[in-house]
Amino acid sequence: MDRPDTFIADRVFDGRNFRDEPLRIDIAAGRIARISPFAPGDAAAPDGAFDARGSTLLPGLIDAHCHAARVGLFEPDEAPNPAAVVKNLLTALERGVTTLGDMGCTAGMARALRALGEARVDAPAVRSSGPLLADPLGYPLDWMRPFHRRIGAAIPCGDERSARSAVERVARAGMDHVKICIMHQSYAYHPLHVFSRSVATAIVDEAHRLGLRVFAHAHFDADYRLALDAKVDALMHSAFDPLAAETVARVRDAGIAVCATLWVFQSTCLGAEERWDRDAGRTGGVTRPVVRSWRRFAEAYAASGDVLPPGIAGGLLKDRAREGVRNARANLMLLHDARVPIAYGSDGPYGFSVLGRAGDELGVMHAAGLDIETCLRAATSRGAELLGADDRGSIEPGRRADLIVVDGDPRRDLGAIDRVRAVFRGGVRVAVGAAAHARAGAAVVRGLAATLADAVRGT
Ligand SMILES: [Zn+2]
Repeated sequence: MDRPDTFIADRVFDGRNFRDEPLRIDIAAGRIARISPFAPGDAAAPDGAFDARGSTLLPGLIDAHCHAARVGLFEPDEAPNPAAVVKNLLTALERGVTTLGDMGCTAGMARALRALGEARVDAPAVRSSGPLLADPLGYPLDWMRPFHRRIGAAIPCGDERSARSAVERVARAGMDHVKICIMHQSYAYHPLHVFSRSVATAIVDEAHRLGLRVFAHAHFDADYRLALDAKVDALMHSAFDPLAAETVARVRDAGIAVCATLWVFQSTCLGAEERWDRDAGRTGGVTRPVVRSWRRFAEAYAASGDVLPPGIAGGLLKDRAREGVRNARANLMLLHDARVPIAYGSDGPYGFSVLGRAGDELGVMHAAGLDIETCLRAATSRGAELLGADDRGSIEPGRRADLIVVDGDPRRDLGAIDRVRAVFRGGVRVAVGAAAHARAGAAVVRGLAATLADAVRGT
């Protein structure tokens, strides 16, 4: 059934709660039109229906923090690789991620990928920040290769004037939101330059004036405090140092969400130690360049003794990295206990955190102490709220019929979220074939061309 008018289901997670009564969900013009009980006497599904009984029906998943145009290597100097980007995007969609919240890529690429997702159901929807706004000497410009800087992956903001003009540039490029980088220490815990309070505030003020939300990359308590001073709209990443009670209270009082991205950090040590480069269950979903990067990283990790090998966190004591992950998990619970909304983000593809394996991040959130409903909300309604995509993320009348059917019961076994049986975007069943790959490849090439054209024009 490629375009069912109706879904019949006896186990539904509606984006907020589980509903166990049999339901009939009628679709019209790509949206959910009506939800009604499916009478027990009605044993047979009506004609034109998709019968999801025995499985679980959920909203399409929303990865609220990813980097849609990245290949996923550990190394900072990825060569452009359209085929790898396409495989990442389409694998994510096939595995149930119908909307990607991109948190950093070039504006040309963001426009091309978003246009593809708007034109086609066999590609994921993309909402993007475009370039990162950064302190000229701070993260990620301390680390980013000159080539990526030249093509506009990040914009330096040294004072209030350049900050406001950077936001205008992002808005003029048609981006959906603004991403600012606030990091007082590097991933290896070295002190870093960071925006002054007036520059961070100018970014948020200008973005809000132009109707854009601002999401802050933040990794330490001091980062959270500066982001809160600037009045950002959400915090990206759970902190590596223990959050002060006052900081947690400020996040709660600000009414903003946190996208924790635990897995991207936890998997760094775990994947190297468990040699996922040799694990067919893991390598099957990624491209050869990524597997080769995993191998290089795992070999370097095995040879680097007590510290992480050269790379984004090179030189950091492995024990300290593990402590940071433990703190991030504990902070997540402090925030959740303070009733801060939590959203799901993979921060992938990067290293061992790949797109379309929501069960990895949700599993570690659950292990940290979140109940399963909260984890599933994070990946559906909370992601939509964070991104301001209020037409999706829940199963209720008026919402887009972005739906997934998974085998089993995620309430008993969260791993079921990765056993996706069918994916629907706008009510249409997604089939990712050769034509979808070709179209997505053409879109990525258009994105690269637009990126280079912008770089040449200096826009
Ligand atoms: Zn990120």
